[in-house]
Order: sequence, then C-alpha cells, then structure tokens
Amino acid sequence: DKYVAGLDKSNTSFSSKINELAARYREIDDDYFEELENILIMSDVGVNMVMTIVDEIKKEVRLQNIRDPKEINEIIIDKMFVIYANDSYMTTKINYDSEDLTVILMIGVNGAGKTTTIAKLAHMMLNEGKTVMVAAGDTFRAGAIDQLDVWAKRLGIECVKGKEGGDPSSVVFDALKRAKEKNVDVLICDTAGRLQNKVNLMNELEKMNRIIKRVVPQGPQETLLVIDATTGQNGVSQAQEFSKITNITGLVLTKMDGTAKGGIVLSIKDALNIPVKFVGLGEQMDDLQEFDLEQYIYGLCK
Ligand code: GDP
Repeated sequence: DKYVAGLDKSNTSFSSKINELAARYREIDDDYFEELENILIMSDVGVNMVMTIVDEIKKEVRLQNIRDPKEINEIIIDKMFVIYANDSYMTTKINYDSEDLTVILMIGVNGAGKTTTIAKLAHMMLNEGKTVMVAAGDTFRAGAIDQLDVWAKRLGIECVKGKEGGDPSSVVFDALKRAKEKNVDVLICDTAGRLQNKVNLMNELEKMNRIIKRVVPQGPQETLLVIDATTGQNGVSQAQEFSKITNITGLVLTKMDGTAKGGIVLSIKDALNIPVKFVGLGEQMDDLQEFDLEQYIYGLCK
C-alpha cells in the first residue's frame, strides 16, 4: 500500500509521539533530545538523517531560546516536513489525460469551499488554454446547483445540471455525454458532501466512478478532497473519513488566507500521505495557488 510508507508505518502517528514526549518534560534537556532521537529512529528515519535533524533542532532551540518542550514541536514538525518534501508523492500537478476527456471529482463536506474551488480550478485551466465543463453533482445542498451555475456563467463555460434532490450520478452521466460531444478537455464534477451518512456517500461515489468508467474507461483522473484549513484537526479527521470511503488523489486546502498557521498540511501528510495540490487564498476565482512546499515551509518558519 503506497500510503503505508515511511513514518506512517507506526501505529501511533509521529505527531502524537512528540506531543506525548513534550508532555513528559518540563524543560528541554539532553534526555529529552535522546528520547526524541529514539522516536525518530523508531519512525524509520535513517540514523544519519536523525542526527542532522536533531542538530538543526538544537540550533534552532538555542537561537530562539526555547525552553518549553511544547514550543519545540513546531520546529520538529518543520524539519520533518523537509524530509517529507523529498517524497516524490508530493506532486502538485493535475494528472491530465492527453488522449481523452479528463474527469475530476470534487469531494468534501458542505462549506469547505468545494463550489468555489471548482470555479477557481476551471478559471486556472481556462487560463492554461484548456476547455472546461462543470457538472452540478451536488444535488443535495440547497443552492449548490445555482451557485455553480452562476460561476459557470461568469467563466463563460457550460454547467450541466439536474433537479435539486435528483440523482447526482445521472447529472454526471449527462455531463459526460455532453463533454464528449463538445470535445472539451476537462469535466469537473461537484458531489454532495454528506459525510454524516457514510454508507450513502460511499455508494454514491462508487456509482459515480462506475458511470464515469462507462464513458471514460480509465475513470476520473483526480479525486480532489476539499478541506477548510481553518478547521484544524477536524479537517484532518474529515480527510481520514473520506479516505476510507474513496480513493483520494489530492487535497485542496481552502481558506489558507484565514489561518495564521497551515500546520494541517503536515498533520494530513503524517496521517494519510495524501499530497496537497492546491491552496485557496480567498473567495475570488483567481485566489487559488498550486501548493508550493518551499513557500509553505518558509511561511511556517517565519
Ligand atoms: P461548498 O459548500 O463546499 O461548496 O463551499 P462554498 O464553495 O460555497 O464555500 C463556502 C464559503 O467559503 C463561501 O462563502 C466561500 O466564498 C468561502 N471560501 C471558499 N474558499 C475560500 C478561500 O480559499 N478563502 C476564503 N477566505 N473563503 C473561501
């Protein structure tokens, strides 16, 4: 399983181990660092790498005059993130199909920013010279269809829609046919984010995947999970729940403009090893950025 790589092999996540360690020490001392080294080593970080990281952490601790182990956790996490950065799985690019229609499924709970993100992605793709269509597959949230339709009009693209309360898969099927007819490059499909009814949601997404495969045999190129970054650990557990329901190829973290620290990036990576592909930085259609790791780390260390 590609998700069970490196640090994620351990039953207890790395972050909970360092939190537990921090809780046991009142002040940072040599014993603390020794325990930290052990945790890193047991987490499958190579011994040389552990020495390098711990040296860097010690330097930072001296520089910032940190004494409370709880304050050190963020520094540890930053250094760990640099290791994660070497993981090629952190690709941010959309995996387009150059031969066939590229289908992108958008999932996430209501209010996470799914509809807005669809508009932002469509806008970005239009700027790249691609032709785009959207499918109003969230037939459950009141107003979701109209909201997407308004964005589509603004963007000058077609929005395929059905009735509120109707079958999302049939909307997606209509959209697939239409997208094929019109020979567009990308079809972005909205879905309902009813995480409170997991069985229904799972069945619905499975059905959608089956229907997509009938028209585009390779299935959706991307299933992007939209998470509100301001929800912190709640966002992490949402990602966990969704990953049990369907295969997620990437994350979009919205509302990064509304949170001082984007530590959620690391927590999700630590818990699930799913790459963050985009970040939302506002409510307008050009407020979307490809996730930039260096910029992110720089932001965290500021
Ligand atoms: P959905 O229910 O998941 O489709 O969520 P919406 O797309 O309707 O977004 C919910 C609210 O969050 C709306 O008011 C959006 O304007 C706002 N929103 C979405 N993305 C962002 C973002 O990146 N930054 C900020 N500040 N607001 C956002």
